[in-house]
Amino acid sequence: MDFSFTKKEEQFRQELRTWLEANLPDGWLQGEVQLDKESKEYELFLRDWQKKLYEGGWAAIAWPKQYGGRNATLMEEIVYQQEMVRVKAPPLINYVGLHMVAPTLMQIGTEEQKEKYIEKIITGEEVWCQGYSEPNAGSDVAAIQTTAVKDGDRWIINGQKVWTSFGHVADRCFLITRTNRLEKKHKGITVFLLDMHQPGVETRPIVSMDGQKDFNEVYLNDAIAYDAEIIGQVDEGWKVIIALLMHERTGIGGQVFTLEQQFNDLVALAKELNDDDEPLIKNPFIRKTMVDLYTRSRGSLLNYYRNLTKQLKNGHPGAESSMDKLLVSELTKELFAQAISMQGHHGVLWKENALMDRSYWQDNYLYSFGQTIGGGTSEIQKNTIAERILGLPKDMGR
Ligand SMILES: Cc1cc2nc3c(=O)[nH]c(=O)nc-3n(C[C@H](O)[C@H](O)[C@H](O)COP(=O)(O)OP(=O)(O)OC[C@H]3O[C@@H](n4cnc5c(N)ncnc54)[C@H](O)[C@@H]3O)c2cc1C
Repeated sequence: MDFSFTKKEEQFRQELRTWLEANLPDGWLQGEVQLDKESKEYELFLRDWQKKLYEGGWAAIAWPKQYGGRNATLMEEIVYQQEMVRVKAPPLINYVGLHMVAPTLMQIGTEEQKEKYIEKIITGEEVWCQGYSEPNAGSDVAAIQTTAVKDGDRWIINGQKVWTSFGHVADRCFLITRTNRLEKKHKGITVFLLDMHQPGVETRPIVSMDGQKDFNEVYLNDAIAYDAEIIGQVDEGWKVIIALLMHERTGIGGQVFTLEQQFNDLVALAKELNDDDEPLIKNPFIRKTMVDLYTRSRGSLLNYYRNLTKQLKNGHPGAESSMDKLLVSELTKELFAQAISMQGHHGVLWKENALMDRSYWQDNYLYSFGQTIGGGTSEIQKNTIAERILGLPKDMGR
């Protein structure tokens, strides 16, 4: 693959840069926007950012124009990722809606569903969450126990979901349920586009080890959904589940650009911190670790480009995205561990006591453990690589 960008792609980069300069929230580039992540103010700030992106035509560039996208090429998507990472743009509150639910609706949804939901996803009017995992169904998602029972044109839903990211701010949930126990495990599953604002849905926050409440337990007690809110066919939800997961995996690959930026931040940190009056970057042991991290993160980026080339030829993502997910999440964990270690005993200080960058390193170090689990654990990615890329025998547990 040719890694250089064409004149047209560089023009695209410039257009986005100009827009970002004019539209990033005031004080963002200077690091002056410090909001409490659990506050309503932060939620409104993120909803407003999503709306701004939409109005500027930058909310979902890969989508077809008819839905508010730009029909962007994969190369333009790379440019987009690079520029967003460069300015450390605010996160997307409707990540699940934009990158997972809407592409699945475009692929499988009815015309009524497309009309009803897609515009509200891109404008940010309706934020979505993904209700897959349950206490006994994570890696083995087909083991779900949440039931949906037919009652006229309604369905009565009971059960529990767990680790539901954005559940506390979501307006709708892409919810998987069991509708038939007589069928085989992968049959008898139905997917609903559930309204989260109803008495039968209770969301309780889970506090993760970084002190954040990003994900939730969701209790469903006689929650209601209608026939029109089923995506795909009754009892045939497995195909819908896989379609959404493919879109999720493709999105995760883009984190290679964040990793590249984080490596640059690490180098800056090693220049800033001193050991015996010498910047740490001059210490041979630190240099060796940095070279190792650089080589591997650069390798991940090149591997990502190689997988992309295959995707450009085939027109769809393959099992290779598991390699991207595995490499990036594990490397991110190592990179932040190195940053904490470089801070010595100051590394254990946190929040307002933190020595460096208002706890940026500590926050991300703690968060990095979840990244190796969410979207499929590292072990599951290794199974996929072994079976689908290396052609090894199937996991004996299945
Ligand atoms: C940050 C974060 C965000 C998340 N967001 C969401 C969300 O929005 N919606 C949602 O539905 N879920 C979400 N999850 C849940 C996530 O998808 C599950 O945690 C994940 O799929 C693992 O499931 P589990 O926790 O039940 O672990 P288990 O499946 O019980 O696994 C436990 C351990 O056993 C290993 N293991 C299991 N099976 C095998 C096997 N066959 N071979 C080898 N090893 C195996 C696993 O790799 C793991 O190390 C999120 C999780 C995190 C951390």
